[in-house]
Amino acid sequence: MAVKMKAVVSYAPYDNRYEDYPKPEAGPGEIVLKVKGCGICAGDVKAYHGGIRIWGTSPENRYIEAPCIGGHEYYGEVVELGEGVEGYKIGDTLVSEQIIPCGECEFCKQGVYWMCTRSAVFGFKQYANGGFAEYVKLTKNCINHKVPKEFTPEQAVLIEPIACGMHAVERAEIRHSDVVVIAGLGAIGTSMVNIASLALPKMVIGIDVRENRLEMGKKYGADVVLNPMKCDVAEEIRKLTNGLGCDVYIEASGSSKSVTQGMDSLKNLGRYVQMGVFAEEVKADWNTIGDGKELTIIGSHLSGLTYDAVINGIASGEIKTEGLISHKFKLADWKEAFEKTEAPDAMKIMLEP
Ligand SMILES: [Zn+2]
Ligand SMILES: [Zn+2]
Repeated sequence: MAVKMKAVVSYAPYDNRYEDYPKPEAGPGEIVLKVKGCGICAGDVKAYHGGIRIWGTSPENRYIEAPCIGGHEYYGEVVELGEGVEGYKIGDTLVSEQIIPCGECEFCKQGVYWMCTRSAVFGFKQYANGGFAEYVKLTKNCINHKVPKEFTPEQAVLIEPIACGMHAVERAEIRHSDVVVIAGLGAIGTSMVNIASLALPKMVIGIDVRENRLEMGKKYGADVVLNPMKCDVAEEIRKLTNGLGCDVYIEASGSSKSVTQGMDSLKNLGRYVQMGVFAEEVKADWNTIGDGKELTIIGSHLSGLTYDAVINGIASGEIKTEGLISHKFKLADWKEAFEKTEAPDAMKIMLEP
């Protein structure tokens, strides 16, 4: 009989089950990790809530291949090495990037693997079962990174989300004369305040509707924090910038109001970076982008080539992690953990087997 492990298996919207699942085995070129921890991404919660980008409108356009195991923000210890695996040994602590690229498409060949057209993100396909489990299998095309032994569980789990934030900040191409706004101070947004500050711009402004997150933003290097529930953010930004507006607006909240707020806050020739994910289609006045301000609109997807920099930054202390994980739960208590993500005091929440 096959060996079993415990896992949180997604069957359908609102139907996740903590149950026995076959423990993965390492085939040629593959690695099995014993999972030590896994963060809960907004994407995992959206999958549970039947998000349309995940479940589609019909089986034909469905992204998720249920039943499968969620979670891509995991780290773990190597317990099994398949034939031909080089560079790793039993006992190494690893993270694997959230995407498994095909290695063969045009984007992979160009080295921009995070845009791979035949990829899977961990947690959404059966061949890419994720870290809400006791074990996870890293297939041949996985992009793995060693985690320093001195990292805390929180730091190890934060590597993936911070890598996504770092990519968005890199996309903004911050200059020292820039006034940079980060809208949405969850764990990723707060970390983006940190990383944007390391580029030494003129000013970093953090925006969120929750006061505890604004406090975190300040601790992480925001010069100014603004709460859109309490002030007209665009007006305040103009007051701080001689009436001109900000140079960079990185949208990390996934709120449609934040998009119009960003267009309004940016100065002429400003750069708008979209990092947050929306639940619905968003409307914007395209005249502001074109005929009005000549804005540059920049997308940001996953975390191209930033894991090493994040790991080095955490190791050196330049990338801070304190307080970004607000709660920890046992894997068996996944439901309570998912519900907690909505709580006012929640930042990132992690599960441990
Ligand atoms: Zn994530
Ligand atoms: Zn590819």
